[in-house]
Amino acid sequence: MAANILSGATNQFNFKELPKSKIVLSEECFIRLSAAINLCALSGNKELEYGTFLYGKEMKPNVIYFYVPSKFDNYTPSYREFNVNTSEMLEEKDKAVNGNKYDCIAHIHTHPYIGGTCQFFSNQDLRVLKTLQLEHQPNNGRKKYFFMGLLTVSPSNFFDNDEISFVFYDDNVNEWYKITNITVLINNEEIPLKKIGNRPTMQLDKRKIKT
Ligand SMILES: [Zn+2]
Repeated sequence: MAANILSGATNQFNFKELPKSKIVLSEECFIRLSAAINLCALSGNKELEYGTFLYGKEMKPNVIYFYVPSKFDNYTPSYREFNVNTSEMLEEKDKAVNGNKYDCIAHIHTHPYIGGTCQFFSNQDLRVLKTLQLEHQPNNGRKKYFFMGLLTVSPSNFFDNDEISFVFYDDNVNEWYKITNITVLINNEEIPLKKIGNRPTMQLDKRKIKT
């Protein structure tokens, strides 16, 4: 896969599924991601990108619980890139890398629907993730795991079809993976996100909510 990452975009849905993987989002994280995609959908300028960092822990092998979003949302959205351009957000991320509280960090951003490959990660996005994984590690040897999440407004601009996806670069085997099993923890219950085909949307699967 790495050889394809030279220019343009890469369809993350062609990546292998990370074995027995799951991403669990706290309600707070899910609300933050919903806000980011709504900003993207409703801001009027379809080419600005929004995003955040999420912080969490690996609960079991390949099962990641992200429970805290970045405290900061004062970045300036950029044209066709999510540029983490506030020092507070970057300092917070560096503190998380060097601290022991979290072992998993997700970089999340939106893509507008303005053309065919917008629902995929750009190759630049994947380079950013690989750089985070390889180079943004603490000195104490306690390795951190970076994930990248993409939120995409649907072509129809109908919020039911907005998508979310996560990828991970495993530097031990030089392999890219997707994680499409995503749930939201609400009142101690995990509600899966609804999928269209193999692609998770930003909608809770209401059939799984107990009433
Ligand atoms: Zn991107």
